[in-house]
Amino acid sequence: MGSTETTGVDFDPILPGTGRGTAGEAGGGGGATTSDSLAASPLHRPSDGPPPRAGEDRLGDLSRTAPIGLPGLSEPEAVRHYTRLSRQNYAIDLGLFPLGSCTMKHNPRLNERMARLPGFADIHPLQPVDTVQGALGVINELAVWLIELTGMYGVAMTPKAGAHGELCGILCIRAALEARGDPRSVILVPESAHGTNPATAAFAGYKVEDIPATPDGRVDLEALKARLGPDVAGVMITNPNTCGLFERDMKAISDAVHAAGGYVYCDGANFNAIVGRVRPGDLGIDAMHINLHKTFSTPHGGGGPGSGPVVLSEALAPYGPLPFTERHADRHITLVEEETVGDRHPHSFGRMSAFHGQMGMFTRALAYILSHGADGLRQVAEDAVLNANYVLRSLDKTLDAPFAHSGPCMHEALFSDNGLPEGFSTIDIAKALIDEGYHPMTMYFPLVVHGAMLVEPTETESKAALDQFIGALRSVAERAKAGDSSLKSAPHFAPRRRLDETLAARKPVLVWKEPEAAKAAE
Ligand SMILES: *Cc1c(COP(=O)(O)O)cnc(C)c1O
Repeated sequence: MGSTETTGVDFDPILPGTGRGTAGEAGGGGGATTSDSLAASPLHRPSDGPPPRAGEDRLGDLSRTAPIGLPGLSEPEAVRHYTRLSRQNYAIDLGLFPLGSCTMKHNPRLNERMARLPGFADIHPLQPVDTVQGALGVINELAVWLIELTGMYGVAMTPKAGAHGELCGILCIRAALEARGDPRSVILVPESAHGTNPATAAFAGYKVEDIPATPDGRVDLEALKARLGPDVAGVMITNPNTCGLFERDMKAISDAVHAAGGYVYCDGANFNAIVGRVRPGDLGIDAMHINLHKTFSTPHGGGGPGSGPVVLSEALAPYGPLPFTERHADRHITLVEEETVGDRHPHSFGRMSAFHGQMGMFTRALAYILSHGADGLRQVAEDAVLNANYVLRSLDKTLDAPFAHSGPCMHEALFSDNGLPEGFSTIDIAKALIDEGYHPMTMYFPLVVHGAMLVEPTETESKAALDQFIGALRSVAERAKAGDSSLKSAPHFAPRRRLDETLAARKPVLVWKEPEAAKAAE
């Protein structure tokens, strides 16, 4: 850690029998690795055996004409292959994951134990309802917590990720407007929004218009008010926003949007910074998704599926998808299936998915919430914000921090590439961080900041871990400022050297193809 030198040698993968391989080659497709060379050897392939002798072939022209092409590996060979791959990877269990906007935090092992209890792990969605009362109880109890923590009226638990939750919320807004005979055509989205926001609005059939930001990185309230009108269905605002700043005018924004007949969608991906401290319902929000896989510590990225429950205001709750949990006086009632709804939820827009959503994520999230309690969750937000401000203030002399002048940040610290010498940019810093043993921070997002570097440490990092990361980032930034050209070709010590990202994006290789050598050996 903190090394200021690179040796310039190519990385040797920790794979037996491959030598230098193709480390350093550009391109997203990868080159020869152990798996390729195993596949290339003329191994027996049980699934490609000779055709059965007896019986008439009834497949007609559906018969396979080429070998099926499975590798035919033994169990230890397969285990070793995946274990080797896992050792080339970076994971939250290996080190700090500074990805801004992603809230990559430790996944407590208690959650995993709960999710693996057979009563949760082994159930089937079509089991008789009276055999899954415990699982339904978990969903309902989590729903109650989400309603309480957000101060909202109801919650749709089924959306499968944040972006799916956005779609759910926008469909509720559309259903509410259609119900009052006032379909509208425009959704306003701030310039700093996550790409899923405009994508969701467009997918739901709306025209998307930008709301400009103020110089201190927040929504320009006056510009927003000026744009409101009878064609605006609603706004989608992220709070805290993707510059890591709290939208202080949120209540004024909600009031103005409501006065103009629209609805307020809040992107709740950054809820970690305010959980237990601020209730979005008090800010006039009508719909907000909660990424259980961010705020409530269920694994994500390569680690597992997402889950994006959507909390709704009293105005939108009647339109929420089934199944739906709604506040009734002092009780909460889960509306399980269409047949049981009766006259209680007749305006639902339909369903977001079959069945009830991501059971494993619900179980993990509830385990996390119950093990923290109300006071513990409050401390999550406080510690996450403290850690982000520690990173911001430790590095704002080394890197340009565009909004550092406007006060403390929330859960993430934002830097730009201003002040780096000619020829050096964000990608060089990010790639050099890999050589220091870290996953890079989020790069080039939000778009409102040139060469953005967005760092979110989360509350699960200790001061020692933060100091080590800060030291690494500072040393990389100082090397860039000193014109160290080795940064331009970093990473030097990773399984792959710098990739041609344009090629990888334009011509992604998404399907495994059998190497020519293996075909020739048939
Ligand atoms: C992560 C994120 C989303 C999308 O959530 P997914 O679960 O990845 O679909 C939306 N907005 C913001 C600000 C996010 O950080």
